[in-house]
Order: sequence, then structure tokens, then C-alpha cells
Amino acid sequence: MSVSKLNKQQFGQFVDAILAAGRKVVGVVAKNDRFVFNTLKSAKDLRLDYDVTILSPRKYVLPQVEPLLTFEVGGDAKSVKQNEPMILLGIHPYDLIAINQMDELFSEGEYDTHYMDRRKNITLVACDVAKASKNVFASSMETAVADKGYDILITDIGDAYLLDAATEKGQALMAYAKGAAAATAEDLKKRNAIQEANKTGLNKHKLNCKPSYLPKLMETAYNHPVWEEKARLCYSCGSCNQVCPTCYCFDVQDRVNWDLKTGTRVRCWDGCLLENFATVAGNHNFRKDRSARFRHRLYRKAKYVPEKIGGQIACVGCGRCVTACTADIANPVTVYNRLMEERTIG
Ligand code: SF4
Ligand code: SF4
Repeated sequence: MSVSKLNKQQFGQFVDAILAAGRKVVGVVAKNDRFVFNTLKSAKDLRLDYDVTILSPRKYVLPQVEPLLTFEVGGDAKSVKQNEPMILLGIHPYDLIAINQMDELFSEGEYDTHYMDRRKNITLVACDVAKASKNVFASSMETAVADKGYDILITDIGDAYLLDAATEKGQALMAYAKGAAAATAEDLKKRNAIQEANKTGLNKHKLNCKPSYLPKLMETAYNHPVWEEKARLCYSCGSCNQVCPTCYCFDVQDRVNWDLKTGTRVRCWDGCLLENFATVAGNHNFRKDRSARFRHRLYRKAKYVPEKIGGQIACVGCGRCVTACTADIANPVTVYNRLMEERTIG
């Protein structure tokens, strides 16, 4: 489709026009000295110059707690859908790729109508990274730029924004952009330079192999001592799971109301590092050891999920787990590089 150009003032008017039309917009705003995705009230609050958000936009495509159905003893269960239309504005490419991966995972095999109905109502407006965060390694994971998967991609080229509307949803949103001009060859050159710089520059931790090699690397790493060594320091707090844009494991719970007759079945975030994650009926925990849980997370990123979605690695290099881990052991690059150094295969 087409790439348009809006100067900074016009861009603010574009966002405010969307808000004035009553559309729900979730964008990146400052919170103390960090950034979060939150419901946007005004264009002046939007920060497309952010480095990274504390939590990823996953919480909008897969809410922390989501009602699935309501029930009544002796009565019928009624399906509940939480799929309010919204525009997610300012998603970095690595987070966009994580959402695209989740779309594949929730639509393959058992098609998840709760997730997919919500996703169909969400417009994804991505933006190229303007500032590297302290632990990002998206360049190593080849997720620093995105050439698909968005409805609109925004790039800050200095005095203006370029908006690449790639889908019908994106084109429809551009109706709010007054005074947009077509991007010139010079504008596109600037955008290209920003994206090329990000391809190598978002790399505070360097993975010593191509990400596509990781599934092969993991084939012989199951009994490596690194799992036990790292896990000795692990608090099983689950923070690395909670902040991760690609973690999608959930628990399903029945919450009974005070009348003891009615209730709601909810799905809520879970995390494979939490001690009870793998506890099943009979109180049997098939991943009781911390080392087994620690290993599982990194196998999932590098082998199990890639096997489901055509080899895509389920770590997009956002660096959030590195920042969140009090014990300083969650960095996937540190572990994968160690396995690379001590590998027994070619
Ligand atoms: S494993 Fe860590 S760096 Fe990789 S996507 Fe998850 S939070 Fe980001
Ligand atoms: S954040 Fe660190 S300490 Fe907490 S569960 Fe993850 S690896 Fe363990």
C-alpha cells in the first residue's frame, strides 16, 4: 500500500482525531522514569521515543485475567467474550513479532475463539525503535525491524513521521490523518537508514550464533550443568515469565460467587518458573526441581515453540527478563552462549 508523511503537529492532530471519534487507543506513556502501555487520553501523553515498556502489549491481546464463561449450579454456562475494539499504538517491532507469533499459536490446532475474536478487533500500529533500552538484543534475534504483521508502521524521521499503512484496517485509520503527504524518495531513504541502524544497533547482549541455530543447539543440551548452576540462584518468582512478550501459558480457574451457586470461569496468566505451574491432580508436580523449570523456559523459547511455528524463536530479544530478574540469571543469551561454547555438536 502507501507510505504517508505527517509533520509532528499533524501527527498529534491525527491521534487526537482518533480519540475524538470515540475509539479506544492504548499507547505508550511515561510512568515515573519508565514507560507503560496505557489507555491514551490525549496525543500529548504519547511517547514514541520510549526505549522499552515495563510490560509488553501482550496484556491487551491476552489479558492477565480474562472471563471465559459464567455458570450457575443446575443452570446453563454462558460464554463471555472480552473483545472491545482497540488500537494498540506504538508497538516496537520485537513486541509486534511476539503478537504475530501468538496469533499463530492461538489459531493453530484448537482455534481459540476468545483470543482470536479479540485480536480481530485490535489494530496494530507499530513504530520503529527510536532509542535502545539497556538490555535489548533484538538485533541478535533478528527482530529489530518488522516488514509485516502491522496495520500501520510509524517511523520518526526527525521533523516528521512516516506512516506505512499495510492493511485495510490501517488504511481506514488513515482517514483521520489530515494534511498527509506522500513520502518522498528522500523520506524513504531516511527511514531505511533508521531501520538498517536498528538491525545491528539494538544489541546490548550478543548471541554468538544465528537464532535459527538454537533448536539444533538445544538437541544435546538437556543434561548440561548450566541448568542446575543457574537454578540454584533462582527465587521461582516468575518475573521473567510475567514480563515476557512471548510467554502465553495460562491457568483456568472457576471462581465461585458468595452465593455458592454462580460463578465465573477465568483464564489467567501463569508462568513455568512458578513452583506450582506443573502441579496436576493428586498434587503431583512433574517439574518440581527449580532446574527443570529453569531449563523448560529456555527450551520453550529455543525449541518447543519454534517446532510449532515454523522455526521462529520465541525470544524476541526485548531484554525485559534481564532487567526483571533480581538474581541476574534470566538472560537467555548468557545461557545460549554458554551452551554454544561447550557444545558437543557442529
Ligand atoms: S525471554 Fe526475555 S528477552 Fe526474550 S522475549 Fe522473553 S522477556 Fe524478552
Ligand atoms: S526472574 Fe529470575 S529469579 Fe525470578 S523466576 Fe525468573 S530466573 Fe528465577
